[in-house]
Amino acid sequence: MAVVTGASSGIGAATVVGLGRAGYQIAAGARRLERVRRVVGESGLALPLDVTRLESIDAFVAEVKKKFGRIDVLVNNAGLARGLAPIAEGKDEDWIEMWEANVLGLLRVTRASLPLIRKARHGHIVNLGSIAGFEVYKGGAGYTATKHAVHAISRTLRLELNGEPIRVTEVMPGMVKTEFSVVRFHGDRDAAESVYKGVKPLVAADIADTIVYAVTRPPHVDVDELVIRPVAQAASFLVARKP
Ligand code: NAP
Repeated sequence: MAVVTGASSGIGAATVVGLGRAGYQIAAGARRLERVRRVVGESGLALPLDVTRLESIDAFVAEVKKKFGRIDVLVNNAGLARGLAPIAEGKDEDWIEMWEANVLGLLRVTRASLPLIRKARHGHIVNLGSIAGFEVYKGGAGYTATKHAVHAISRTLRLELNGEPIRVTEVMPGMVKTEFSVVRFHGDRDAAESVYKGVKPLVAADIADTIVYAVTRPPHVDVDELVIRPVAQAASFLVARKP
């Protein structure tokens, strides 16, 4: 069975669909429960989950334990970017929100899930990193710092779990058209649209495909890292746009 966090939208929602098609039973969560229910459908378990709240994570994992008793695949997808302010004008509330969801959330969900992952014959943790985990761009420090942290955590996990049958894959997408930019720009849809202007971005299903690929390899094969970008994006800040 597979657990997907941040399943109400974008990559998480597409991953629920992809893993479901690959034969996995699904437990999925996000704060917008109605949307998770629609994504998961009748067959899966849709649960409320706020990865910034310990009690929410504990309740989520307890429900998964009750229904499935183990976790074969955990996809740590929940996350967000806020703002594009330079460090000189960095907003505490934006940085705190990103760190709480992208870094502490990932730590806490992983920590709470590990006892159930250890009950699987072969466990797999998939972390949503980003090209922002190894590149930087002006105005991006709040977000890139969190994804650099995800990169460090993923690599550390692989060391700490060495000797156990648990794989760790970090998926590092470039530009994917989801609700990501609408969230980043606090609901400003024009600003969000301008991110994808003149370019064919990835879509959530492109990333879900790579996650399904990684988890369906034979159990002795660990796909450590996958970097996927639109052809037009050579770097976070270097995008070839058509006029
Ligand atoms: P999205 O469409 O905005 O989806 C983000 C998901 O995360 C939503 O389901 C949201 O659900 C959930 N989420 C946010 N805060 C949460 C919280 N506190 N608790 C639980 N769930 C929370 O964006 P996306 O592009 O699919 O992003 C998914 C992941 O991919 C993120 O980790 C992002 O950093 C990463 N990524 C995205 C891109 C890109 O270009 N789009 C590139 C590289 C990496 P609720 O709001 O309902 O809780």
